[in-house]
Amino acid sequence: MSAPENTLSPLIVEAIDVHKSFGVLDVLKGINLSVRKGEVVCLLGPSGSGKSTFLRCINHLERMTSGRILVDGQLIGYHERGGALHEMSGKELAVQRRDIGMVFQRFNLFAHQDVLTNISQAPVLNRGQPRNEALARARQLLKMVDLEGREGAYPYQLSGGQQQRVAIARALAMNPKLMLFDEPTSALDPELVGEVLNVMRKLAADGMTMIVVTHELSFARDVADRVVLMDQGIVVEEGPAREVLDHPKHERTQAFLRRMH
Ligand code: ADP
Ligand code: MG
Repeated sequence: MSAPENTLSPLIVEAIDVHKSFGVLDVLKGINLSVRKGEVVCLLGPSGSGKSTFLRCINHLERMTSGRILVDGQLIGYHERGGALHEMSGKELAVQRRDIGMVFQRFNLFAHQDVLTNISQAPVLNRGQPRNEALARARQLLKMVDLEGREGAYPYQLSGGQQQRVAIARALAMNPKLMLFDEPTSALDPELVGEVLNVMRKLAADGMTMIVVTHELSFARDVADRVVLMDQGIVVEEGPAREVLDHPKHERTQAFLRRMH
């Protein structure tokens, strides 16, 4: 894996004291997280600890209650004027989100479009990429996710693992600076998990900056540069993957890891 802990690689994500409440429920209670270019960070933690909410704050799918998040130096979702934050327009947000790829537990492919259209449409519509360029890039990405030859398939003709690999290719087609994965293998039959993780390994090896919410501890151990353990809306522990997974310091990390085995 890469060694991104040097000061030369720029910060791609800076989350500063992020709070999020739903009514009286405080879901995020001051999350701080920095991710450098090329780094792979796995976000672990019990169900309900706020992992998805935090990922969704990063691309402003969720409006945080306070705090701020910068992606590649840009404040996400807001303009700062005279010390106050003003929410961006939908159009401005869309421009920011083009640079942040997101892959969910459910594949969310467009059911009525074939694979090639699923992958190539957004770059044409949202980036103004010429159609033939976008198609060529889509074919290249299909090869990368080991689905060469399935250009004309419709989502219903593919397995869950294949659909998820198309979803990854679709996100990559926008040339994101950052990829967010929210339990990308949790909805898959066990025998299909490996093929999706392999694509993610490849991406990591290619230097993509990634935040991955996952329960796949062996993936975290092998691929992540850093592991962050969240519980009840705070970061309980973070550090080099093997250090945290093999020698957890915090009692809550130890309890979580025990439950996972
Ligand atoms: P995780 O991904 O770690 O399982 P989530 O971020 O999905 O956790 O959820 C954290 C908490 O926030 C949970 O208690 C969940 O019920 C609550 N929550 C998430 N989204 C909403 C919402 N839109 N409205 C109300 N509560 C929510
Ligand atoms: Mg979740």
